[in-house]
Amino acid sequence: MADGTNAPPMTDGFHLVVDALQLNGLDTIYGVAGIPITDLARLAQASGLRYIGFRHESSAGNAAAIAGYLTRKPGVCLTVSAPGFLNGMVALANATTNGFPMIQISGSSDRAIVDLQQGDYEELDQLNAAKPYAKAAYRINRPEDIGIGVARAIRTAVSGRPGGVYLDLPAEVLGAVVSAEVGARSLVRVVDAAPRQLPAPETITRALEVLEKAERPLIILGKGAAYAQADDDIRAFVERTGIPFLPMSMAKGLLPDDHPQCVAAARSYALAQADAVMLVGARLNWLLGHGKSPQWSPTAQFVQLDIQPTEMDSNRAIAAPVVGDIASSMAALLATLGKGRIRPGSAWLGELEKRKAVNAQRMAARLTANPVPMDFHSALAAIKDVLCKNPETYLVNEGANTLDIARNVIGMRAPRKRLDCGTWGVMGVGMGYAIGAAVTSGQPVVAIEGDSAFGFSGMEIETICRYQLPVVTVIFNNGGIYRGDDANRGADADPAPTVLMKEARYEKLIEAFGGKGYYAADPQSLSRALVEALASRRPALINCAIDPAAGTESGHIGNLNPQSALAPRK
Ligand code: ADP
Ligand code: MG
Repeated sequence: MADGTNAPPMTDGFHLVVDALQLNGLDTIYGVAGIPITDLARLAQASGLRYIGFRHESSAGNAAAIAGYLTRKPGVCLTVSAPGFLNGMVALANATTNGFPMIQISGSSDRAIVDLQQGDYEELDQLNAAKPYAKAAYRINRPEDIGIGVARAIRTAVSGRPGGVYLDLPAEVLGAVVSAEVGARSLVRVVDAAPRQLPAPETITRALEVLEKAERPLIILGKGAAYAQADDDIRAFVERTGIPFLPMSMAKGLLPDDHPQCVAAARSYALAQADAVMLVGARLNWLLGHGKSPQWSPTAQFVQLDIQPTEMDSNRAIAAPVVGDIASSMAALLATLGKGRIRPGSAWLGELEKRKAVNAQRMAARLTANPVPMDFHSALAAIKDVLCKNPETYLVNEGANTLDIARNVIGMRAPRKRLDCGTWGVMGVGMGYAIGAAVTSGQPVVAIEGDSAFGFSGMEIETICRYQLPVVTVIFNNGGIYRGDDANRGADADPAPTVLMKEARYEKLIEAFGGKGYYAADPQSLSRALVEALASRRPALINCAIDPAAGTESGHIGNLNPQSALAPRK
């Protein structure tokens, strides 16, 4: 009724989205406000959700993605239509590629106008644009479908191989009013969003048979294993079989890097010589040489634990596929594992030990060399010592040399603490990951960033300061992409393509927002700055001067970078 006295209580699309998220325990939104989702962000905050507002949607999406990885609940990213949507899509595609559960909710413009291409404000056919980059893409066309739409997005994001889901919310659906009773009835609480997937018993026996016959077995732990949070069973299996293991980058710390069975320091030898390999939540993609020779023995037998059946035989034949969730598969393996049936050969273990010792010595020499100007190794040695004393700290890491060398130098002792470029080897994830990790854990984060890598998401320094997050950003500033000393091969005076501003004072950026800036040109001052910054639990940025001539083109993956044989050289 017009005077409202007997009118039934009403709700609208905005409220229903917030109610649906809350009903399913999704308590944080990472986004950038604007038309048509500003009121959604406001209302979420008013209703007790945490809203973290970013400066760029890719960073908001990366924060949501890493939150999904750390919590096993989909991280929620909120974007505006068209360009904001597309910026977020970069992160959604990256989440899908990495197997991180995430939902990007985007407002969109008037469907009638968009579909006839009549030129709406921020016109874009977002649903179709999202499809190739997402695990699934859905549009909610009626307010009474919001409950089921959100439920579908949640289940799709976390079940099976996790991934990114796109949820399209046209402006008119957000604003549409329905009776509160109809709205409440339409909400769905998702029961068992990521059900256990038990492996078939015969796949377990087959896997153990392969490992029993092996002289030189090897276990590879991937970030799927880290995601599964089956830490105790994985450790028990590794220790009871005595099989040497290698962690993939984001699986470092699942078992401590200084565990006696860790053969990271003899990686190439272990890959090339293993006669049986058990992959646990790791794909045989480019990061593992596609499982092929010369990196691997052509006769090695593979066991693979994965939740995704089609991952098997994707790059080379898998002798014993174990399809199931890793927690269930590991439990089944442990239950079937007899005493002493699996015994790695002593020659194998001895040779790995020898090689580890030689490589460890070589590394120690590089870490103590302390050249002037400072190189990657001596800077990382300083950071490593400080992190050792702050084991609760998350480590975000991106760059080329900064990534490759840090991965080798900085040992991890706890699971899911190392967050890096992942499956794509991509840049631009650093500040988003740092914010997502700090927000979900409340723990300090150290982000070790190449100067180029930092640039992609550097404005989020303001976000870190606005929310007063305990993030210390360490920029390895060698004045360029890969290196800072490249020369222009032409006649004009422009900088070379890989060159960035020499001696840029990145520490002043954070001072503009009230954070603490430091400049460090030697390991001692770097160490002092990091200790102080971590103790303060406040935003800080350390600009770390690295020799422009340190580092190699494309870091450790120079083989992927084609170079012209005919072009002029320096
Ligand atoms: P890495 O880069 O560390 O090698 P990948 O991302 O390539 O790791 O591989 C992770 C694999 O783990 C994917 O194939 C994915 O399907 C799988 N996976 C993710 N979560 C689970 C889980 N809970 N149980 C089983 N497999 C999983
Ligand atoms: Mg650089």
